[in-house]
Amino acid sequence: MSQPLTTLEVEKIRADFPILHQQVNGYPLVYLDNAATTQKPQAVIDALVYYYTHDNSNVHRGAHALSDRATAKFESARKSVADFINAAHTQQIIWTRGTTESINLVAASWGADNLQTGDKVLVSALEHHSDIVPWQMIAEKTGARVIPIPVDNSGTIEMEAFVALLDSRVKMVAVNHVSNALGTINPVAEIIKQAHAVGAKVLIDGAQAIAHWPVDVQAMNCDFYVFSGHKLFGPTGIGVLYGRRKLLEQMPPYQGGGEMIETVSFSGTTFNQLPYKFEAGTPDIAGAIGLAAAIDYLNTLDRAALAAHEDALLAYATKKALAVPGLKVIGTAKSKAAVLGFVIEGTHPSDIGMLLDQQGIAVRTGHHCAQPLMQQFGTPGTVRASFSFYNTFEEIDRLFAALDKIRQLLL
Ligand SMILES: *Cc1c(COP(=O)(O)O)cnc(C)c1O
Repeated sequence: MSQPLTTLEVEKIRADFPILHQQVNGYPLVYLDNAATTQKPQAVIDALVYYYTHDNSNVHRGAHALSDRATAKFESARKSVADFINAAHTQQIIWTRGTTESINLVAASWGADNLQTGDKVLVSALEHHSDIVPWQMIAEKTGARVIPIPVDNSGTIEMEAFVALLDSRVKMVAVNHVSNALGTINPVAEIIKQAHAVGAKVLIDGAQAIAHWPVDVQAMNCDFYVFSGHKLFGPTGIGVLYGRRKLLEQMPPYQGGGEMIETVSFSGTTFNQLPYKFEAGTPDIAGAIGLAAAIDYLNTLDRAALAAHEDALLAYATKKALAVPGLKVIGTAKSKAAVLGFVIEGTHPSDIGMLLDQQGIAVRTGHHCAQPLMQQFGTPGTVRASFSFYNTFEEIDRLFAALDKIRQLLL
């Protein structure tokens, strides 16, 4: 295992993130809401400003220098993403607005052609609403059923129960790589192997995983992998759908409009090739360029060291949490990414969130877009502290000192 970052290295990285250096409610900001969105390094902000200052133009419309530059940067960003997740070809990278739109695209397009009455879509009980609702919507239209894969009380997928659910009517298995609510790291390689054995396709929701360690879609052998730029230190409004080429080629377009056509006439329209077939309308050009800048930035860092630092932060925070009287950690899977969810007996998560904010500490409270999961844990919500590589042990000390004060206030 790689060595975690030193204090000095973390300070150097923090200097790249201007937003972290501010006071909130009279305290230095402690940003522990990275599972909701990550902060942007100066390199990403600069790339956006540079693009709008020098290159802004519409893409693929040729005919002038700015459009050529914008197109070149936009397509080069697609190559950056393909390399980043080890996709075999840039045509397998479809730009979307984010994870949610990527899943809706697959559910609507692939689902319409491949789901029939009696077919099943398995989704884990850990899923974000965006990996449940699009499947329910297409199931409603096609007569397929959405069936939850059970999760035990630590937040771990029950693999035996999963395998027992698999049969030839299962056409799709959709699971997250890392749970946003609990931090559970799912055994995606094994899930994909088992699903493929019955001929099902697999979509992996990588919204959380992508920021924490290198992802290799070919080694993983998934059929679809989706994530959002804003959780990878890039801008909001841009996301990625990676798909197996043969599947993407067979799938009908998701939306109609400009960019996605080859020829249009009132007697019929022919569609553009991949990836443009799925990219109707003017895309988020600046967003794609900003996301590529985020990837370039990450590639300057030792990602194994970043991951080791995040693991160390999680271990440190978990140990402190277990020492707080009345605090219950929600999400105790063996294999976890940097998310600490908890409740404190006799208090409401939203009160804790508000009182932490008063001390400059940003966490998320509520159901984390995972209501079925919260129901299983018998709580309407949790307090969630989620860490990134720019967080420090000192910030975790601040969190627990603040929680001590809050407990005295509330209990
Ligand atoms: C954030 C998140 C989503 C939704 O991402 P959007 O950027 O809101 O589209 C889906 N799944 C997981 C696991 C997430 O963390």
